[in-house]
Amino acid sequence: MILDLFNLSGKVAVVTGSNTGLGQGICKAFSEAGALVAGVSRRPSSETQDMLGDSFYNIIADLSGLDAVDKIIKQATEKFGRIDILVNNAGLIKRCDSLEFSEEDWDSVMNVNLKTAFFLSQAAARQFVKQGSGGKIINIASMLSFQGGIRVPSYAASKSGIRGITMTLANEWARYGINVNAIAPGYMATNNTEQLRQDGERSADILARIPAGRWGTPDDLAGAAVFLASAASDYVNGFTLAVDGGWLGR
Ligand code: NAP
Repeated sequence: MILDLFNLSGKVAVVTGSNTGLGQGICKAFSEAGALVAGVSRRPSSETQDMLGDSFYNIIADLSGLDAVDKIIKQATEKFGRIDILVNNAGLIKRCDSLEFSEEDWDSVMNVNLKTAFFLSQAAARQFVKQGSGGKIINIASMLSFQGGIRVPSYAASKSGIRGITMTLANEWARYGINVNAIAPGYMATNNTEQLRQDGERSADILARIPAGRWGTPDDLAGAAVFLASAASDYVNGFTLAVDGGWLGR
């Protein structure tokens, strides 16, 4: 039956940035679809833990460097026996005129959004190959994987980069039954966009350009995330799926 293809029962997912926003929404969606979820966050994901109970296990790790990468895969497999899905969701944004942009704001964004995402994907893929039954990697991209944005050079670079390596890794790892895809959320109401939403002029401009006429919510990503994590997407490779209320088509 077609709906069985979306069922994640028996699957184990690692989701970074599990304490809040889109990451928390993805943890909830996976759990509702039947998966066990190892959520990674730099401070306790207490709210997510309360929501999901025993189907959720919190791994505390700072993703600004690579120290935690192997530990994350090890802890998740020790807890749940295997991993089947990785979502590289943790990310940050720094806003400043490009004329003034600092090296620190460049590196901090690139390290979490791109470098750690790559090496965590590599560690997960090594585990998938060892297990011999494929796997799913979902990168959280952005409208700025397609567009330039304003005052966000490191963010645009990282999100264009993540779309690029989504294709590279899909090309290399499809032969192992590993699907690598990305979701490009539009403008979603989370901490990431708090500054934008507080800027009356920018906020009105953005809203006026969204055909759906509203900011997105973490629940809006649930369907795309479960699709790309499930057998329903087994022949989808290297694609970045926009969930944007129509923003890109405008
Ligand atoms: P958010 O609420 O700010 O969530 C970002 C998550 O990343 C938080 O869990 C945050 O942890 C975590 N994180 C940041 N730096 C970290 C580090 N060094 N180590 C471990 N975790 C770290 O924003 P969000 O909107 O849910 O963002 C999730 C993803 O969606 C990001 O990749 C973002 O770029 C992307 N995205 C968002 C939008 C949007 O409109 N909201 C649009 C396109 C793409 P803390 O809570 O501890 O900071």
